[in-house]
Amino acid sequence: MTPRPLYLDYHATTPVDPRVLAEMLPFFCERFGNPASRQHAWGWDADRAVDTARAQVAALINATPAEIIFTSGATESNNLALKGAAESLRDRGRHIVTVATEHKSVLDACKRLGTCGFEVTVLAVQADGLIDLDRLRGAMTPQTILVSVMAANNEIGTLQSLEAIGAIAHQHGALLHTDAAQAAGKVPIDVRAMNIDLLSLTGHKLYGPKGAGALFVAKAKPKLTLAPQIDGGGHEHGFRSGTLNVPGIVGLGRATEICREEMPAESARLRGLRDRLLDGLRVRLGGVTVNGTLERRLPHNLHVSFAGVEGEALLMAIGDLAVSTGSACSSGSQAPSHVLQAIGAVREGGGASIRFGLGRNTTAEDVDYAIDRVVTVVSSLRGAVAGPT
Ligand SMILES: *Cc1c(COP(=O)(O)O)cnc(C)c1O
Repeated sequence: MTPRPLYLDYHATTPVDPRVLAEMLPFFCERFGNPASRQHAWGWDADRAVDTARAQVAALINATPAEIIFTSGATESNNLALKGAAESLRDRGRHIVTVATEHKSVLDACKRLGTCGFEVTVLAVQADGLIDLDRLRGAMTPQTILVSVMAANNEIGTLQSLEAIGAIAHQHGALLHTDAAQAAGKVPIDVRAMNIDLLSLTGHKLYGPKGAGALFVAKAKPKLTLAPQIDGGGHEHGFRSGTLNVPGIVGLGRATEICREEMPAESARLRGLRDRLLDGLRVRLGGVTVNGTLERRLPHNLHVSFAGVEGEALLMAIGDLAVSTGSACSSGSQAPSHVLQAIGAVREGGGASIRFGLGRNTTAEDVDYAIDRVVTVVSSLRGAVAGPT
């Protein structure tokens, strides 16, 4: 039976996998030691558990354990990566390149740097959501120290060509940071093959707990140093002070391990469900537009606009589907997203849009239920707009 309301908002957050929770539980009441306690068994036990998690997170992205710093999530990782790198490299150059469709935690961190003496170039994207590599080449200057491009977009699921982007950054002596909050655990990531120097990920987008995340910092020569943004006891190689969130870190580690093991089968399953959803909508409704490209996209993401429907009305009518809705039209009362704006999907009469995020608990039956609900609601709203005849 399809549960109602039906959760299809897995880009916003995911439930903790029961296998992850089971791993975490002992670290609250019994194995509660502080990994910084070097003189007794409680500390050693917690330290070992953190080491295991570090190796698990590293394995997901082909990093080494020493390259993983634990944080509170992707927002903190993005801030540490951008501000930390900018501060430590400011004598080499003061130019940063990022992209219009980035998450606010990247755009706002860059905005802050813009007020602290850095110059920020925000690249536009093409209609498919991808950046134009020639434009990136054109934006690079001898002053460019950092390029920040997300691995997968949180609204339209676009997968950027990181390997090529990293190669361009490196040719110009700049670092590549990627916000992989949506991509990690969902599509293969190899920091070596993809020329990534800094990578942010977070537990709660990959069936781990909220409040636990990581930043990958490449062990490079010359050594890549980040200016810490939180000072204190020198935890995490001095990059991020503060007592470690051991249960959260243990959960993050186990969550990344499960994702790595199950990725091939799970991503094929989700892609099948996503295609079933799109086909079902297209067969029964006209005026359905996919936002972003289907070619380079997270397997579990679908973002569609429905012509002739108002965002607000759709949001009200679709109550038993937990999805993210928005306006694809700038005249509505709902502000259109900066991502839809950037791909040029916001236009007069653009209609309403829905982001579907499918996940580990989504079944074919759920997808069929969602199709029925959306078809019913959109048809009736279009009828209402047309008025009685
Ligand atoms: C969710 C998300 C973040 C923020 O992660 P938190 O762990 O919630 O701080 C950053 N970037 C992207 C792309 C996200 O989807």
